Amino acid sequence: MDKKKVIGATAAVTALAGINAVRAAVYKPEKKEIVAYEPETVDLDRFRKNLSDAVKIPTIAEKNPADMNWEPFDRFHEFLKERYPLIHECLTLEEPVRGSLLYRWKGKRDDLDPIALLSHQDVVPISEGTLQDWTYAPFDGVDDGEYIWGRGTLDMKNHLIGVMESVEALLAEGFEPTRDVYLCFGHNEEVMTSEYSGAVAMCQYFKERGIHLDCVIDEGGAILPVNIKGIIDAQLAGIGVAEKGYADVEVSISAKGGHSSQPPKHSAIGELAGVIQDIENHQFKEELSPMMMELFDSVGRRMSYPMRLIMCNLPLLKPVIQKVMTLIPPAASMVRTTTGVTMASGSPAPNVLPQKASVNVNFRMYPGETIEDVEKHLKKVIKNKKAEITVKPGWKNPSAISPTDSRCFNALRDICSQMNPKSIIAPYLVMGGTDACHYEAVCENIYRYSPFLVDTQLLLCTHGTNERVPIAALEDAIRFFKLYIRTLSAE
Ligand SMILES: [Zn+2]
Repeated sequence: MDKKKVIGATAAVTALAGINAVRAAVYKPEKKEIVAYEPETVDLDRFRKNLSDAVKIPTIAEKNPADMNWEPFDRFHEFLKERYPLIHECLTLEEPVRGSLLYRWKGKRDDLDPIALLSHQDVVPISEGTLQDWTYAPFDGVDDGEYIWGRGTLDMKNHLIGVMESVEALLAEGFEPTRDVYLCFGHNEEVMTSEYSGAVAMCQYFKERGIHLDCVIDEGGAILPVNIKGIIDAQLAGIGVAEKGYADVEVSISAKGGHSSQPPKHSAIGELAGVIQDIENHQFKEELSPMMMELFDSVGRRMSYPMRLIMCNLPLLKPVIQKVMTLIPPAASMVRTTTGVTMASGSPAPNVLPQKASVNVNFRMYPGETIEDVEKHLKKVIKNKKAEITVKPGWKNPSAISPTDSRCFNALRDICSQMNPKSIIAPYLVMGGTDACHYEAVCENIYRYSPFLVDTQLLLCTHGTNERVPIAALEDAIRFFKLYIRTLSAE
């Protein structure tokens, strides 16, 4: 290269680096007017006692209503009546379906769409053989001064009791909402049974009365500390704006079977092995959606200067990030429909060739993809045309994606940053299912967010052993719900 070219290239690189440095310097969170925030006094002892007592009632639901043990649910309803007298005096209560509670707090105006706060009363059972692993029995509701222990302390009696505490406190203060406020407490979220779902019945209740909801808030994201030394020190308030779909599909191969002493080259299982390889080798296409880009962007803007040099080029980096994410399973689940081969069956005896071999493939569909896409995809990638594909009942398409510029999302953003200037408020995709998606028929602004500061390690105890909530996270949850109701029940 001659000298001129070298000088030219050096100048171009320097100029680009300069432009990038300037971009990184202005790549910061949007400056917002900071509203003065004075944390209000909360009756923490009351919340602790009521949450601990709520955990003692083992509200475990069954798929089939005929198998339900209603006694704990009846007891839980009595418990709520006894502990929240103002709510039961000032709000109306209906049971659109046995077990589910729908409270209506009438607002001053009826020309405005109401808001709804959702929670489910039921909890998951304790996995067989794990009871002895618990530090404190799961239904004792032990409060050891640091945590409240037990099933439901994270999913989601903490949230339900938090909402009740907040409404009771607002009533005691004489607060009157402008819009109607609904509290919708389903009774069987954990058993994923849309046929008898309490949430479906409650949505039906709104539909029949022509009630359109302004916004819905349900379980979902928590507040996660994000600390990487020298790069970021923040709290991530993830607001779930969508949830993935769910489907189990049986893929099977039929064969003659017979005695295993005279096997063919490939038994049904042998052939099925090829089918499984086809399925696993052809994953769904990844896509870093605008929602995910917004999440990366919100986090990137909070990073320290050298990292911002990279993050400010997010649109350019999109293809690389997308690819890297597919290599890390938890990250991959955020960018595509996932495929998990989970159960297999063959012949009933060691010396019998299978007449049918099958696997269950579990799919979690990415918003935008449907059960039809899953079937189409399987038909395309499985080369063995003998394979039979059967979608099992109980599938659910992904939810719609709620907007990030609605009145409710903006309020969530304001409340979270007001309560903690270190908050990063970002939309995200919820992996599991919630009751919230059933409300799509009556609401477009559906958000999934639990205002409890819980670290990732602890969050993994949800549905597992030693589920517990830090007492330090409780006060702010009440403050959040009170602010949320005050703000969103207004005009
Ligand atoms: Zn839950």
